[in-house]
Amino acid sequence: MSKLQPVRGTADLLPDVMAQHLLVIDTARLATARYGFQEMATPVFEFSEVFTRPLGESSDIVTKENYSFADRGGEQLTLRPENTAGVVRAMISGGLTQSLPLKYFYAGPMFRYERPQKGRMRQFHQVGIEYLGPNDALADAEVISAGARFLAQLGVLQHCVLHLNSLGDLDSRAAYRAALVEFLKTHESALSDDSKRRLAVNPLRILDSKDAGDRDILQTAPKLADYLNAESKAHFQTLTSALDAAGVTWVYDPLLVRGLDYYCHTAFEFVTDAIGTQGTVLGGGRYDGLSEMLGGPAVAGVGWAAGVERLAMLAGDTVVAAPKVAIFSADTDTDTAAFRLAETLRDAGIDIDFPTAGTIGKKLKKAARSDIKLAIILGGDEMARKTVQLRDLTTGTQSEIAMTELADVVTAALLAP
Ligand code: ATP
Ligand code: MG
Repeated sequence: MSKLQPVRGTADLLPDVMAQHLLVIDTARLATARYGFQEMATPVFEFSEVFTRPLGESSDIVTKENYSFADRGGEQLTLRPENTAGVVRAMISGGLTQSLPLKYFYAGPMFRYERPQKGRMRQFHQVGIEYLGPNDALADAEVISAGARFLAQLGVLQHCVLHLNSLGDLDSRAAYRAALVEFLKTHESALSDDSKRRLAVNPLRILDSKDAGDRDILQTAPKLADYLNAESKAHFQTLTSALDAAGVTWVYDPLLVRGLDYYCHTAFEFVTDAIGTQGTVLGGGRYDGLSEMLGGPAVAGVGWAAGVERLAMLAGDTVVAAPKVAIFSADTDTDTAAFRLAETLRDAGIDIDFPTAGTIGKKLKKAARSDIKLAIILGGDEMARKTVQLRDLTTGTQSEIAMTELADVVTAALLAP
């Protein structure tokens, strides 16, 4: 240590950066509160067992990233690499399995001994949610929708693609694992060194390999989807129907896996190509086996974690998205009513721009050159009829809408692709 500097892979959060972090964290807290997730925190270090016990035979690979140490009393401790195991440990040790379901939000630092690079730190920060108790697909849909709403409110959802896969239940995964291992054994010598090691302990994780040679081999590998039993297929079908109904867009990604054995059914990631190679900003899945592996009762769970540094990078300085809807008063007689209508729509949760200066013609022209997609125009005739004109500035189509229905119509129009 010649100069006094922060440890490799760590960073100070000076006020500029801190402000970006807080915006990400506060947005996540508010968006997930809309679904009933309540904030809690676990200690930043735990007995090492909390992280090693659920990992079973794959532990040597996964724990090489862990910061572990013996304290002065000789206890083996680990700085948490993620928070799901800690939250489930808290549920078990606090006797909270009597009060299911539990919906938790957390934010805080995580620690992994990784090769530092852009978007990959040794101390980094996550926000996340865990939904403990339900094992049905609608709980997965809730958790994913909360993630999408958070990213939308941060103004970055349009830069992300939601990747979705089904890992199936225990039986489906065991059948697939056997078929995959049999196939990969015939290509073993051509696999990368990492994948050779994983073949013995954690073969599903090979699907996630970034190695070009591995990816070639995987082209012809058996597909997980072909090994899903009826129950697993039904779970995925219910989830995707719910997401479709809510207007959450997704792509099927058969190679998306969460490596550890306690994951089942749903795996998902929101991925962007706007911040370089470390493009996964939010990832999660269902982990019904975790509680038992930690020594607790069988409790189902689903959740996600998002990287604060990567989201702050993605959000940049334009963290608050500009409104896509504007209200225009046709003349001075309708100004007050238009102002009130703007407030009513904001109460309904819609971001509204309300340009004031200039003629309506000029204001509409200016809006067409901005992010505004929908123009709500209120004139004297409309006011008498308790309606407005709703114009789609992209297509130019216009229709007259009753004021009482406006919030619903606008919300639906904003969700439409
Ligand atoms: P990756 O494939 O990028 O290594 P991961 O599967 O290890 O991700 P998770 O454990 O799912 O990541 O963590 C959730 C999120 O936390 C990631 O999507 C990412 O945004 C963030 N994250 C994970 N590791 C780091 C790190 N070392 N530095 C910064 N952010 C990280
Ligand atoms: Mg990682």
